[in-house]
Amino acid sequence: MTTLPNIDWEKVDNMVPAIVQHHLTGQVLMQGYMNPAALQRTIDCQMVTFFSRSKQRLWTKGEESGNHLKLVTLGSDCDHDSILIQALPVGPTCHLGTTSCFADVANQPLLGKLAAVVASRRDGDPDSSYTAQLLQGNPRRVAQKVGEEGVEVALAAATNDKQNLKDEAADLLYHLTVLLEQQQVSFAEVAQVLLKRAK
Ligand code: AMP
Ligand code: ZN
Ligand code: ZN
Ligand code: ZN
Repeated sequence: MTTLPNIDWEKVDNMVPAIVQHHLTGQVLMQGYMNPAALQRTIDCQMVTFFSRSKQRLWTKGEESGNHLKLVTLGSDCDHDSILIQALPVGPTCHLGTTSCFADVANQPLLGKLAAVVASRRDGDPDSSYTAQLLQGNPRRVAQKVGEEGVEVALAAATNDKQNLKDEAADLLYHLTVLLEQQQVSFAEVAQVLLKRAK
């Protein structure tokens, strides 16, 4: 059950900016405006609904394309003039066909950014890219590297070597990202497992 967030409607002149984030990755998907009716419908239908300034009416994202934004949770900011929404997107959120309207790798959270760069090396040149070499080589090599780096992280922690721990943790996260790309498992799917456990 989502409760109405505390918005200072007088202050925002009945039109509050709403930022939508992917519930599983934190990626910013889009931004729109809500009036009280749009916010109420969002909560009632559990589908993100804006007030479209160009259409001058309530607009449920996905009403034509089917690419809805399923509401997970929402809340207002410290001074009650902005809404942050966590949603699960159905299909691409941008009408241009991309996951996010802010279609840039830089808009991705850290692990998503790393995963995007790793994925882009799938067909890269193995002579100039270590990632391409790993992805195109024997799959067992990547699994072996994840195991090795895991042991190196454990050793760095056991010897209280903080700098080494940071280096090895970075190595582990990178190789784990390569392994997930090789196995075609997304960080969103891993996040889903973690969130299910937290409940
Ligand atoms: P949809 O809500 O996805 O069915 O799309 C309906 C119309 O809304 C599209 O034809 C676009 O004009 C507009 N639209 C859809 N998605 C977005 C978006 N993320 N940002 C701005 N306009 C959008
Ligand atoms: Zn504010
Ligand atoms: Zn867009
Ligand atoms: Zn290492």
